[in-house]
Amino acid sequence: MTGFGFSIFHPRAAVQAMPLVAMTLIAMLLAVMLWLLHRNEVEEERDTLIMDILWVEQNLHFNLTSGAEKLARLAGDAGRLGSTAAPVAAQGRHLLATTPELARIIVRGDDGAVEMALPPLAQDVPAADASSPRGVAALLALSLGRPTFGPAFAAPGLGQAIELTAPVYRDGRAAGSVVAMLSLDAMLAQHVPWWVAEKYRIEIVDGDGTVLAEKTKVSAAREGASYQVRLDPPGYGLAVVATVYRGQGNLPRNLLAAAIFGLALSAVLSLAAMRRHGRRRLAAEAALREEHAFRKAMEDSLTVGMRARDRAGRITYANAAFCRMVGWSAGELVGLLPPAPYWLPEDIEGTTAMHERVMRGEAPADGFEIRFRRKSGEVFWALVYEAPLIDAAGAHSGWMASVLDITERKRAEEMARQQQETMQRTARLISMGEMASTMAHELNPPLSAIASYNTGCLNRLASGSFTAAELETALTKLGVQAQRAGQIIRRIHDFVRKSEPKLAPCALRAVVEDAVGFIAADAAKYGVTIRVAATRDAMVNADRILLEQVLLNLTRNAIEAMSATAPARRLLTVSVTEAGGEATVGVADRGPGIAEDAARNLYQPFFTTKAEGMGMGLNICRSIVELHHGRLWFEPSPEGGSVFTFSLPVWTP
Ligand code: ADP
Repeated sequence: MTGFGFSIFHPRAAVQAMPLVAMTLIAMLLAVMLWLLHRNEVEEERDTLIMDILWVEQNLHFNLTSGAEKLARLAGDAGRLGSTAAPVAAQGRHLLATTPELARIIVRGDDGAVEMALPPLAQDVPAADASSPRGVAALLALSLGRPTFGPAFAAPGLGQAIELTAPVYRDGRAAGSVVAMLSLDAMLAQHVPWWVAEKYRIEIVDGDGTVLAEKTKVSAAREGASYQVRLDPPGYGLAVVATVYRGQGNLPRNLLAAAIFGLALSAVLSLAAMRRHGRRRLAAEAALREEHAFRKAMEDSLTVGMRARDRAGRITYANAAFCRMVGWSAGELVGLLPPAPYWLPEDIEGTTAMHERVMRGEAPADGFEIRFRRKSGEVFWALVYEAPLIDAAGAHSGWMASVLDITERKRAEEMARQQQETMQRTARLISMGEMASTMAHELNPPLSAIASYNTGCLNRLASGSFTAAELETALTKLGVQAQRAGQIIRRIHDFVRKSEPKLAPCALRAVVEDAVGFIAADAAKYGVTIRVAATRDAMVNADRILLEQVLLNLTRNAIEAMSATAPARRLLTVSVTEAGGEATVGVADRGPGIAEDAARNLYQPFFTTKAEGMGMGLNICRSIVELHHGRLWFEPSPEGGSVFTFSLPVWTP
């Protein structure tokens, strides 16, 4: 599954990712919450803005309409009492004093002339041109018979202002008008309360958006939403606009939000860092586990026993191979002081002495051999190398020994020694065999000569007719023959002493051919044909002379076995083959074969069925073959008779 890439969502990974995901979700939820709060706030702000601006508009509306009423009353009084009557002036002054936005009151006569002005005018101000919007408004007031507002205009020294014209009727006739000039700036200053001015910038704008008057507390503040309400009266497209100030109130909240986000971000980052760290740690742990497993496997697979001891000689460590070797478990060994349970009680003195040598740091550099005991009681030979154990801090903390079980090696050495002995014995036996036959052949002439000289002497002595000279000659000749016999024996003796097998690689086929060459004359004498069938040649590591001896013995036996066979059938076959790292030589005859009870004793020394047989041949042959790590056996031949076969390991350079 991993190969397809969609199984990376491992349950453990999910658990590890949870805090990070949770933290991210919290941060996201916080963001959503803050956004919702903000939206709420904006909505609330907008609602408040609308309510406040409506309130301001109401206030202005109320003041303008009540101003219009008061002016209408003044105009009424001016109509009744005359424009310049004291109560009218007093009322006008009162109106001026109590209405700060009211800049001026002018009472004009029917002809437009100024009849009264409050405050008094330094120079005459002509009435507005009847065709101008202001003039139209004044005319409208007269025609409607009620106070009418005019459009905004720039009044010198007042900024933008509006005029309120109230008609004056006297005796049912239009007799002029009272005009009140209202400063827009002053109106805002007066009727927009501080708490509104603190939150908003309030402006009066005309139809095309030109600001005519404004009230502001805070300058250069950032502005937010604004809302506009028509101001009627006075109309003419005038409107009140409120624009929210923004910024100063939001600072703590923004700080808070920033802090929350900062914290969430740092939490997410630290969680991510922790996860990364965790992952690295897991990877490191996995690597460590692997390393540990590798070391453990290596340690367990070691065939060399390892054992550590501290400087007091206490066992501190034993590996699996050492435990297998001695049979005690590491748990049983660790902590033990000498003598160790695997020390051999009968060697305790020598072992203790060696232990003390090791503790003194005088262990033989090329190791030492020692006998130990297994838990089962079996004694084994160990080859021990001791080396100082240096701990991580560089201090010499004890001794580490590598222990090799060399019992097998020792056994092999012993076997080799025994084999050497066998070889020597075999060589001696061969020599004996040769000696016997040589003695038989070579001692015969001198011995028969001695016997005949002896008979001659005895005959002369018995006949009584002899001379001392004759006897002396015969006895001298007899002595010469006896010496000759002695020489023969000495020579044989010398030969026996010197003969030692010498192994060397040689071609088996050549050895066979040599041996066949030797025996050819004998074979011819017995009317036996020899056939060599070498399908494959092979090299063997052998003593050529000894191998020839084996072949001579086997072929001679085969030839002798065919003495009763029909002369035409007397065939001796010597075959050489090689297969599976083994070379085999078979010697097949067409003799009578081997009877069962003879087969049992065939290799016994001195077993023979022949009148002048020694019975040593096959015994020696087997010894020689085994000396060469081979086997010798026989089986009935398919053509009648028997096949003696020996096999030898093939020699490879
Ligand atoms: P020896 O030839 O001196 O008798 P050996 O040890 O060579 O001694 O042989 C022992 C005996 O084994 C022989 O006497 C003979 O009876 C028997 N033998 C050996 N080779 C053969 C053979 N090829 N066929 C039949 N009998 C054999």
